[in-house]
Amino acid sequence: MVGSTIEIDLAALRHNFSQVRKLVGQTTAILGVVKSDAYGHGMVSVARELETQGVEYLGVSTCREGVPLRQAGLTTPILLLLGIEEDEITDVTKHDLTPVLFRGDIAEAISSAALAASTQIPVHVKIDTGMGRLGVPYVEAEKFFELIKSLKGIRVEGLLSHFASADEHDKSFSTQQLKRFRRVLNQAKSAGLNFRYAHIANSAGIIDLPDSYHQLVRPGIMLYGGPPSQELHHPVPLKPVMTLKTRVLQLKEVDAGSPLGYGCTYLTSRLSRIATLPVGYDDGYDRLLSNKGEVLIRNRRAPVVGRVSMCLITVDVTEIPEVLPEDEVVLLGRQGDEEITADEIAAKTDTINYEIFCNFGGNRKKHFLNSSAP
Ligand SMILES: *Cc1c(COP(=O)(O)O)cnc(C)c1O
Repeated sequence: MVGSTIEIDLAALRHNFSQVRKLVGQTTAILGVVKSDAYGHGMVSVARELETQGVEYLGVSTCREGVPLRQAGLTTPILLLLGIEEDEITDVTKHDLTPVLFRGDIAEAISSAALAASTQIPVHVKIDTGMGRLGVPYVEAEKFFELIKSLKGIRVEGLLSHFASADEHDKSFSTQQLKRFRRVLNQAKSAGLNFRYAHIANSAGIIDLPDSYHQLVRPGIMLYGGPPSQELHHPVPLKPVMTLKTRVLQLKEVDAGSPLGYGCTYLTSRLSRIATLPVGYDDGYDRLLSNKGEVLIRNRRAPVVGRVSMCLITVDVTEIPEVLPEDEVVLLGRQGDEEITADEIAAKTDTINYEIFCNFGGNRKKHFLNSSAP
């Protein structure tokens, strides 16, 4: 079939999950972050596999992701990391989702809805300890706790914050965030809030900051086999989960001095064999990889020559004479002893492995390998 294929190796996912478990132990709960289609890996299948492995919580961005997980039959608690708007409270109660909370008006709306239904709605309160993005500013936490205490129907199950730079070599800002977080936890206790989970650790925190574990950790990128950065103190053996493949669509010999692709940005310097591949920026293969990327064919590297177009690229296989039409080509992942990592591609396109996974996999059809689910 002409086109590209995403393969998701669920055995690698299980391996990475077991690495998290090994680090944090049995008594710390694990919230598997499966937002954004599980970083492009396929939200429902990844969540199901994590559920078979005993994950204690799942994290998604919004109701739009949480509801489909419930409809797919997942029973693990689900945290909505971006919180909710007022019109989503019915979804929260109907599908047993747990919103993150950081706004007083939403707290009041949740309280009213809970009272009207004579029930309690669990929430996790998010505190901004320095990231400057989402959450109650830590200096306003005490005031926010007073508000929550005054509202009936809200059950604070968790208190969370998020690291801004735990993936950097210098941990001084993370240490400061941790200090602020601990102070806020004490304020919450003093206000009489009885929460089960305090949590702040993302993958970088899990790998480098054991002091940050508290009762729950929130791995994302490491579940998918990507290191959170190249600056970690204690790298963990992770296995990449995603592979992007295609096949040679056409093979041709061209003279020296032949232009290739839009804009004729590449001119062959010798008699060359060029393989044309049915993959392009529509598959998430960034146009910045024009004349820069490499792919694997016959277990060897071949350079991308000419511009990446929407659905096609050209690669130089002059040095790999045994290449044939329909040969398998790996754009991300392993072939033989060679491997192209998301980090390698990210370095060439001025981004991070997170974005490579989202671009390649996000909401595309995937082939799932090695599922342990029945
Ligand atoms: C995405 C996200 C994570 C996961 O971060 P990684 O660096 O991928 O481990 C954890 N917590 C929150 C709140 C997030 O939004």
